Amino acid sequence: MLHVESWARTASLRHLERDAAGAFSLYLGGRFAAASDGGTRELLDPATGETIARVAEATRADVERAIALARTAFDEGPWPDTPALERARLLHVLANAIDANAADLAALETLGCGKPLREAEYDVADAANCFRYYAGLATKPHGQTYEVPAPSQSFTVREPIGVCGQIVPWNYPLLMSVWKLAPALAAGNVCILKPSEYTPLSALWLAKMVAEAGFPDGVLSVLPGAGPVAGAALAESMDVDKIAFTGSVPTGQTIMRAAACNVKKISLELGGKSPNIVFADADFETAIDYALFGIYANAGQVCSAGSRLVVERSIADAFVAELVRRAERIVTGDGFDPATEMGPLVSRRQRERVEEYIAIGRTEGATLACGGGRPPGELGERGNYILPTIFTNTTPQMRIVREEIFGPVLAVQLFEGEAEAVRIANDSPYGLAGAVFTSDAAKAHRVIRKLRAGITWINAYHPTYNEAPWGGYKQSGIGRELGTYGYDAYTEVKQINVNLAVEPSGWFKG
Ligand code: NAD
Repeated sequence: MLHVESWARTASLRHLERDAAGAFSLYLGGRFAAASDGGTRELLDPATGETIARVAEATRADVERAIALARTAFDEGPWPDTPALERARLLHVLANAIDANAADLAALETLGCGKPLREAEYDVADAANCFRYYAGLATKPHGQTYEVPAPSQSFTVREPIGVCGQIVPWNYPLLMSVWKLAPALAAGNVCILKPSEYTPLSALWLAKMVAEAGFPDGVLSVLPGAGPVAGAALAESMDVDKIAFTGSVPTGQTIMRAAACNVKKISLELGGKSPNIVFADADFETAIDYALFGIYANAGQVCSAGSRLVVERSIADAFVAELVRRAERIVTGDGFDPATEMGPLVSRRQRERVEEYIAIGRTEGATLACGGGRPPGELGERGNYILPTIFTNTTPQMRIVREEIFGPVLAVQLFEGEAEAVRIANDSPYGLAGAVFTSDAAKAHRVIRKLRAGITWINAYHPTYNEAPWGGYKQSGIGRELGTYGYDAYTEVKQINVNLAVEPSGWFKG
C-alpha cells in the first residue's frame, strides 16, 4: 500500500475557514462562525483512523438563528425576486469555482469519506454539471396556459417554496448537497443545509464558494451537527417551509412525523435493497463487470447499490465463480493511492454495522463465498476496511437479503424464468433501483416495466444523469430529485386567472 504523507492528504483543508481555536466554522447566512456554545466534533480519517480536524457542531440555537436569517432573506430579501437570469449566472459561477478547484475538492472528499480519488473526481465533475443543469433550467418556461371560457384567461407560474431545510448523509457528501442546493437556489428558495456529522468538509467549502460568488446574505447556511439536534431543529421548525432529506428509512420516518407540525413539503430519498437481475442469455462479461460495479462502487455505501444479485439458475455456478474470482482481485486500500479500487467505509460505526450483518449472514446459514471481514495486516487495523464479500445459498427471509447493509456485501439469489425473476426482485420493502441483463430486448423491457423501482437500467448499473429523475417506490422515499422533477419539487404552483371584461358579474341582484 502506498503511504500517503499526512501533509499531502490534508493539504486541501487549507481552503476551509477556521475559528481562533482552529476548528472549522459553521456558515451562518453569510458569515463563518463558531457554534453558539463553542462545541466541536472530531473528524476521523476513514483510511487511517487519525484525527483530521475538529468542526463546529451546530446547536439548536444556531439552527434557529439560521432559520431567522433565512426567513428574512426570503420574506424581505432580494433572492426570490432576483431575475432567473441572475440566479443562473450565480449558479454558473459556482460551477466554475468547483471546476477550478476540482483536484483539491476531490482530495477533500476522499479525506472526509474515504472513497477512491477517481470516484471523488467523478462526483466533483458531476456536482459542477448539476449547478450548470439547473442554471439552464432556471430560465426555461415553467408555467402552463389553459383554454378557459372568455373573457377569462388562466395560466400558472411556479414560485419558490421558501425556507428549505436540507439534510444529507455521508456517502456522497458533496453530490448530495448539490443535488439539493442547485434546484432549490435555481428556483429562488433559500437553504439551510445540514451535512452529515461525519462528512461536513466539502459542504463547508461549498459555502465559502457561495459567499465568494456574491449570493445575498441569508440565502445559504451550512450547519454541521448531530441529526437529533441540528437536523431535528430544522424538521420541527414552524418557520421552515420544506424539508428535503436523504438518509435512512427510520430517520426519514422521524422527519416525516416532525414535518407534520406545519405541514411542510417533504421529499425523502431513503434506502434500498436493489435487485440486479442477470438472465442466462446476458453478455457474460458485461454482466460480471456491472455486478461488481453495482455493489462495490463506493464500497457498497450507495443507496441504489445492486446488493441482491438475482441470477438465472442455469448460469449461476459459472457466474458466481467468476464474480468471486474478480471480487477477490479488487484492490482495497487508501483512497489516495492511485492503485486503490475500493476504499474504506466511512466510519468505525459503519464498519461494525457491516460486520454485524456478515455475522448475521453466517448465523442464518448463508454460504460465505468470499470476503467476510477486514483485510489482513496494517490496512485492516488502521482504517475502516471490509473486503468485497459475497453470500450464496441465501433464502428470501434472511436479514442479509431483506435489510440494507450499506457496505460491500452482495447476496446472491437464484431464479428460473422471467416470472420468478420479477417476483424475487420485487420481494422487498424497498423500491429504489434495479437492473436487468439480457440480450433479449423485448424481455428486458417486459421485466423492467414489472420492477417496482424508480431507477432502472438495462445492461448497465449505476450511471446517473443530472437530467433524469432520482427517487424510489415503496419505502425508498417520496418525490424525485434531479431533472425537471427536482426543480418542480422546489416550487409551488400558482394559478392566475385574469378577467378581461372588467365589469360586475351581476350574480347578486341587490
Ligand atoms: P441517517 O439517516 O443516519 O442520517 C442522514 C442524515 O440525517 C444525517 O445528516 C444525520 O445527521 C441526519 N439525522 C439523523 N437523525 C436525525 C433526526 N432525528 N432528525 C433530523 N436529521 C437527522 O443516514 P446515514 O447513515 O447518514 O446514510 C445512510 C442512509 O442514507 C442509507 O439508508 C442510504 O440508503 C441512504 N441514502 C439514500 C440515498 C437516496 O438517494 N435514496 C442516497 C444516499 C444515502
